[in-house]
Amino acid sequence: MNGPRAAAAAALILTFAGAFPPPGAAQGARDYPITPVPFTAVKVTDAFWAPRIETNRTVTIPTIFRKCEETGRIDNFAIAGGLMKGEYKGERYNDTDVYKTIEGASYSLMVRPDPVLDRYLDGVIAKIAAAQEPDGYLYTPRTASPLKLQPGIGETRWSELAISHELYNAGHLYEAAAAHFQATGKRTLLDVALKNADLAARTFGREAGKREGFPGHQEIELALVKLYRLTGKKDYLDLAKYFLDQRGRGLTLRQYPPGNRFAIYNDATQIQAHEPVLEQEEAVGHAVRLTYMASGMADVAALTGDRAYFEAVRRLWENVVGKKMYLTGGIGARHDRERFGESYELPNLTGYLETCASIGMAFWNQRMFLLTGEAGYLDVMERVMYNGILSGVSLDGTLFFYPNPLESDGRYRFNKGRAGRAPWFGVACCPGNISRFLPSVPGYVYATTGDILYVDMFIAGEARVALPGGTVGVRQETRYPWDGAVRLAIAPEKGGEFEVRVRIPGWARGRPVPTDLYRYEVSGAAEASIRVNGKAVPMDMDKGFARIRRTWEKGDTVDVLLPMEPRRVVAHPAVKDDEGFVAVERGPLVYCAEGPDNDGRTLGLALPEKAALKAEEKKDLLGGVIVLTGNARAADPAAVLRAVEGLAADAAADDEEDAPPASMRRLAPGAPLRPRPLVLIPYYAWAHRGETEMSVWLFKK
Ligand SMILES: [Zn+2]
Repeated sequence: MNGPRAAAAAALILTFAGAFPPPGAAQGARDYPITPVPFTAVKVTDAFWAPRIETNRTVTIPTIFRKCEETGRIDNFAIAGGLMKGEYKGERYNDTDVYKTIEGASYSLMVRPDPVLDRYLDGVIAKIAAAQEPDGYLYTPRTASPLKLQPGIGETRWSELAISHELYNAGHLYEAAAAHFQATGKRTLLDVALKNADLAARTFGREAGKREGFPGHQEIELALVKLYRLTGKKDYLDLAKYFLDQRGRGLTLRQYPPGNRFAIYNDATQIQAHEPVLEQEEAVGHAVRLTYMASGMADVAALTGDRAYFEAVRRLWENVVGKKMYLTGGIGARHDRERFGESYELPNLTGYLETCASIGMAFWNQRMFLLTGEAGYLDVMERVMYNGILSGVSLDGTLFFYPNPLESDGRYRFNKGRAGRAPWFGVACCPGNISRFLPSVPGYVYATTGDILYVDMFIAGEARVALPGGTVGVRQETRYPWDGAVRLAIAPEKGGEFEVRVRIPGWARGRPVPTDLYRYEVSGAAEASIRVNGKAVPMDMDKGFARIRRTWEKGDTVDVLLPMEPRRVVAHPAVKDDEGFVAVERGPLVYCAEGPDNDGRTLGLALPEKAALKAEEKKDLLGGVIVLTGNARAADPAAVLRAVEGLAADAAADDEEDAPPASMRRLAPGAPLRPRPLVLIPYYAWAHRGETEMSVWLFKK
């Protein structure tokens, strides 16, 4: 074995300390040209991320499991398995909340052994295994209540694939199983998953005697790839590609009568089945599904070498990041059907930006980087990690956002009936997704290809990285994202030549995003710099990385200095909602004004062009943040107008079909502006102090 495959296998072996070799990983097969250093080889001690990851382990994961118990999500497995009496409770995709949290708990176990959690998982997995039918089928809504099928569940297996979530549920089962096996070496859940995947592979395909079809909610595709990587069984990769290839190939979707809750699926764009995936050029429909589909497409491109797949997924990316992404990296403009809007349709108050879609953006952008080595994808990933994803869970780990808008008037109930954070949702996809994303963050810090070590993210900690010349220890010290100084201590086991590539973030090079969707008003005066062993080195840039190729020895240091002055950002003029507005960033963080720091009012705030902003550390505020202060101006609340009529001040958007229209904020012509002090906080930290006004975009005056 050599190359990335060897590294991937090494990662597995590292995880199991040699005790549990992988059951037969694909050898010598094609793969991503760049391999992430697995999070099991990266110990994060970072003052910013480590507490969030620990809170996720000690608070969020137990909280979600408790909710899953209280709401019958775990009982559903027990009922389906004949372990208890009762009827299926809840929505037809509720199994996935349990799966996703098992996945998160497993990642957590890899980094930090926890016998209590380990045993708890064993108990839940026993119920899941019991719920599996003898041939491998696993879908508790049918098995638990076969005579009382809920709407959306076909009369027979797989008969309503566009809406049943049977294959979506299976996908999350596979991801959980792969994680649990890697964490514990136990095959309990993996065997369940493989049996189910084998059933899917026997059932679906173009061959005679098989069923044609594809899932309405993508997810199984990227999950099958994980099983392929683990087992080397090519059927799984073939099935993933089959499901992608089937979309938009003339299979007619069932049509539901108007008013039926499933009528939203009459429109094939909702599930990205309006044309073959290789022909899709615009990101349409349900935003989360698009990101999972694109992640699966990137996997297929990498694992099969299919160039058409790469071109197609790259086109979709250009559309999203060039025309449909919010400043926080979030996507999905509309509450209505959780959809993308038109190009440049990015309403702030009524924007959707589902937490899951942000997480999907991270999955997708990481894959694009691994395919191309271009740092621009990591710039997007960093943007969504520090802003659009992190906002999705409260600092104490107990409260969640489903939508993550860039503006709040303190009344509009954007978050499933609330104008603030919520402890749980009827449709609870987002909390479980957060619980599995946070513990995987250490896996995004480093990557390798050949004798190149990529430093992708600035997160303090220690890593052991396998390079062809031997293992290299890397210690990263930084107070990022608050401070732009990063020290890397490079310690190869034996000295030798290799290359360290340090990402110089787009924001530090005058480009907030790798498209023209956002730009800085003024390019920063200071530039990033690098010193090796204290001596300045020229910036040898390639694909957004500074290259340092030399003979390294133990004790060598690389000091990266990124300019941290606050930056004013504006949107492309075609984004009407942001026209006349400016936002503020510092480092990777998007800032916002929130009521409690600004006399309760933020919607009339204007930031004069020459206003100086000062960074001030506030150790006791919101878990410890750097705020930005300065002199702004403010209009009277009555002078703040909504340019689009029809939004009731206290409207609720808890129903997908009951969404309000987009709403632009404008200032009444000639409205007087009075001087006012301004305080900005990091966007991810808003909504911890009541239901208040909040705005990322400030009037430009
Ligand atoms: Zn979600």
